[in-house]
Amino acid sequence: MRARQSSLSKGCLAPRMAGIEWQEASVIYHQDPEVKTELLSRLRKKYLTDKPTPHLTELLYCLTRSWSDRFEPIASTDHELILWCIGFGLEEVLLRDSSRDAALKSVERDGVWLTPDYVAGREMVDLKSTRMYFNSAGVPSKGWPEGWIQQFMAYAAQAGRTRYAVAVVALGQANLFTGTFQFTQEELDNNWLYILGRRDAYNVFTSKRVKPQPFMWNKEWECEYCRYYLKCSVDRNKESAR
Ligand code: SF4
Repeated sequence: MRARQSSLSKGCLAPRMAGIEWQEASVIYHQDPEVKTELLSRLRKKYLTDKPTPHLTELLYCLTRSWSDRFEPIASTDHELILWCIGFGLEEVLLRDSSRDAALKSVERDGVWLTPDYVAGREMVDLKSTRMYFNSAGVPSKGWPEGWIQQFMAYAAQAGRTRYAVAVVALGQANLFTGTFQFTQEELDNNWLYILGRRDAYNVFTSKRVKPQPFMWNKEWECEYCRYYLKCSVDRNKESAR
């Protein structure tokens, strides 16, 4: 028996049997922003929980943004929430195992809080998702992001190890790349000193409630999609007008 292809769903082959042929529907679709609002607000409540501070992620990336998130926050954009949603979802399906929950608690070292993703056997593993493209050697074609390396080194140092494993979901390629970084103790020590320097600066800014000067404490790429960009630009213009 030959199958007839529906004109609505081109890939769907329906068996041609009397009485059970599907009649094409006139499909009317309209967007419903209320559903989106509800889902995003659920996501906000469920996952955007306060971490102990100063947290490693607050220190590695823009201090002006970390400070603003704490004292003069602007709500996360839908785009940011969706990106977090992808990360949280992957963590849930790839990493979560109630028997390992203890490994997910934040730990403190020298007044800096860190939250490891996962412990697999004797390895610590960090999970990332990215739109970067990976080459045949399993390496991002534009190289590993500096912030990731700083983070992996900090976690390795905290755990008293010189190696650190990573699992990276390349979203565009629909592939999972895994590997282990090997660092020297000197590299780990230097990285930790850099973090401690940022910790000290951040602690001064937060204790005095003084905002770190915009465009001084960030990585170059951070401003482009930052929700504080307008505010930072206004602050900078005010500063230069004085
Ligand atoms: S716009 Fe740039 S300097 Fe300002 S908070 Fe964002 S990342 Fe930091």
